[in-house]
Order: sequence, then structure tokens, then C-alpha cells
Amino acid sequence: MKGKIIILSAPSGTGKSTIISRLMQDESLCLSFSISATSRKPRGQEQHGREYYFLTEEEFQTRVDNGEFVEWEEVYAGTRYGTLESEVNRVVGAGRNLIMDIDVKGALNIKKRFGDDALSIFIMPPGIEALAERLRARATDSEETIARRLAKAEYEMGFSQNFDEVVVNDDLDTAVAEVGEKIRRYACGC
Ligand code: ADP
Ligand code: 5GP
Repeated sequence: MKGKIIILSAPSGTGKSTIISRLMQDESLCLSFSISATSRKPRGQEQHGREYYFLTEEEFQTRVDNGEFVEWEEVYAGTRYGTLESEVNRVVGAGRNLIMDIDVKGALNIKKRFGDDALSIFIMPPGIEALAERLRARATDSEETIARRLAKAEYEMGFSQNFDEVVVNDDLDTAVAEVGEKIRRYACGC
């Protein structure tokens, strides 16, 4: 049996990673995380092959040239992120549901390519102020990076209606339950 693709997208700092790690603890959802490739350097405790496949810019380009990506985007100036076809086949082929944390453009491209085999969910922050607070509380980005991410957030929120589903992440437990329920209704177990 083939698994399905679950795409979660949201402005940076909304809580996608937090929601995904909570959902992955629920084995009945049969989720495996889609490990993207990126040309950025590891941050904090991140490990190659766990959060991302960390590639040099040259390695990333070689894989683009070889047609190995189902999608890739320059999410931030000079930094590229992409989903490898091998990653999709590895998980979906094993009958598990592949959960992706990707930017808005990448999400819409994946949905276009995989159609009914993918469910796209936009996670909405409760407001720009709350988003700014979360980015500061996370303490992983400089003020300059935070300002850039906030400016991009409003633009990205304009695409929410192009997604199959929208869930507001105000109270975390409620958001996790809502997303889990939507996945359960869309993709059966494995
Ligand atoms: P993203 O993956 O979307 O960039 P994160 O999952 O890293 O976002 O979350 C950003 C910060 O906001 C983290 O410090 C996280 O603990 C916090 N956070 C996530 N969801 C909520 C919520 N519902 N209420 C308050 N803080 C939250
Ligand atoms: P970060 O650098 O904070 O880990 O991630 C930055 C952004 O890149 C996030 O918005 C995340 O959703 C996006 N991203 C991660 N992997 C991919 C991918 O494979 N493709 C695309 N298009 N975006 C990705």
C-alpha cells in the first residue's frame, strides 16, 4: 500500500515544527518526516540526515542538474531548500504518510504535482504580534532575520486560501488535535 503526502506550511515561527513533532508521537497517524535538502549550515543541535540533508551549494546544484528534486526553492536569499524524489519514494513506497514542512511556494508546487495523493494544510499564526513574540522566544534568529521573516509572513498568509485546509495555531493543544483529525480523515492508518 502507498502512503500519502501531508504538507504543512506557515510563516516561520508559527509553530509548524512544534506541531509536527507532537503529531509524530502519535503512531496511529503513521507519519514519517520528510527530510529536505538545504544549502544552509546546521543550527544548534541539528544533524545531517535528521532535520535536513545539509549540502554545499555545489552539491545542491549538482542534484538540481540531475533532476533529483520534486521541488526546490530559494526560500531566503542565497539559501536553497528542496525535497528529493528519493525521500518521497522511500517513505510513501513503504506505506507510511510523509509529512513535509515546506515553504508556501514549495507546498503549492507539491500539491499541483501530487494532486489527491497530497493534503496541504496552512498553519495560521493568531496575529503578526504573536508571531514576532514566538520568533523572539525561540531565540534562534537575529533581530534582522526576525524582521525579514515577519515581512515575508504577511505575503505568505495571502496564499492560505490556496490550501486544502487552514488551522490557526493559537492554543497549541487545540491546533495539534485539529491537524491530527484532518490527517486521520484524509489518510487511513498503515
Ligand atoms: P516554525 O517551525 O513554524 O518556524 P516553531 O515550531 O519553531 O515554528 O515555533 C516557534 C516558537 O513558537 C517556538 O519557540 C515554539 O515553542 C513556540 N510555539 C509554537 N506553538 C505555539 C503556541 N500555540 N503558543 C505559543 N508558542 C508557540
Ligand atoms: P529553517 O531554515 O528555519 O529550517 O527553514 C526555513 C524555511 O524553509 C521554512 O519555511 C521551511 O518550511 C522551508 N523549507 C524546508 N524544507 C523545504 C523544502 O524542501 N522545500 C521548500 N520549498 N521549502 C522548505
